[in-house]
Amino acid sequence: MVFKAPPSQIVIRPPVEAYSVLIAVTGGCNWNRCRFCGTYKGIYGTTQDYDIRPLEDVLKDIDLYAEKNYHGYPVFLAGGNPTSAPTEYLVKIIEYVRLRMKNVPRVSCYAKALDILRKTDEELLQLAEAGLDIVYMGLESGSSKILRIMQKGNNAESMIKAGKKILKSGINLSLYVMLGLGGKKFSEDHVKETARVLTEINPTIFRFRTLNLMPNTPLWEDWKNGDFELLSPVECLIEEREIIKGLGETVTSQVFNDHISNYCSLESSNIKIDRAAFINTLNSYINDPKIKNLPRKNLTRM
Ligand code: SF4
Repeated sequence: MVFKAPPSQIVIRPPVEAYSVLIAVTGGCNWNRCRFCGTYKGIYGTTQDYDIRPLEDVLKDIDLYAEKNYHGYPVFLAGGNPTSAPTEYLVKIIEYVRLRMKNVPRVSCYAKALDILRKTDEELLQLAEAGLDIVYMGLESGSSKILRIMQKGNNAESMIKAGKKILKSGINLSLYVMLGLGGKKFSEDHVKETARVLTEINPTIFRFRTLNLMPNTPLWEDWKNGDFELLSPVECLIEEREIIKGLGETVTSQVFNDHISNYCSLESSNIKIDRAAFINTLNSYINDPKIKNLPRKNLTRM
């Protein structure tokens, strides 16, 4: 049975926010069309319609955390795309977090490129000045072809524009790259174009995730019909290596493989410095016979 969750219920958060105070701001996703994504389509036993919570309810939650002494923790403003909410509303929430909760080291949220492009530079500056430190945005792929097939709602150029806009405002940017999203057919394009877009943006951080097919997604149907061919674990690692190899010399991002869907755990505080070591480590995984024969994870929960 699938439960329809109210917008106050938090469905997902980034692994890096596992020990943060989570405050629901929006419910669901205002897009909800990406073919690989089942987050709000029932994969966690819940569906959730897109909604913006009433401001008073969010402020009450902040009061509650402040009264219970949840000071000194990072704060994650939850929901699929909180940046879809009006800037004035978000500024009030972020300022209230900063007012009521002491020593908050970081305020963050998910963002969608389409929503960022709808905001003016001035609005993004207001969010940065209120105290929004970082947004997590799904690039998924730098290939416009793959983004179109997956119905991401953006092409490579609009991703670049949104990414640069965020960084220009002073907000840090963490991008997600999804290994295997082009399937076997578009793997080469995925690698080449993703390296190009990452080079253009030079995000603060980029993180690798690996495509994990979920039964309630349209992509699952494509795979069942034979229209989408999944990569093996070792092919996903090769994609990652080739993306890192393809980055321009100017890229200084932090890089993380910090998700359960990944086939190895790796990180760099500056890929410009660590590039050779990163590639060497990936090569050691790629050449490991145990990894070569590893089956796909096929996770049912993440
Ligand atoms: S990947 Fe993000 S934007 Fe796309 S449907 Fe899922 S939550 Fe929405």
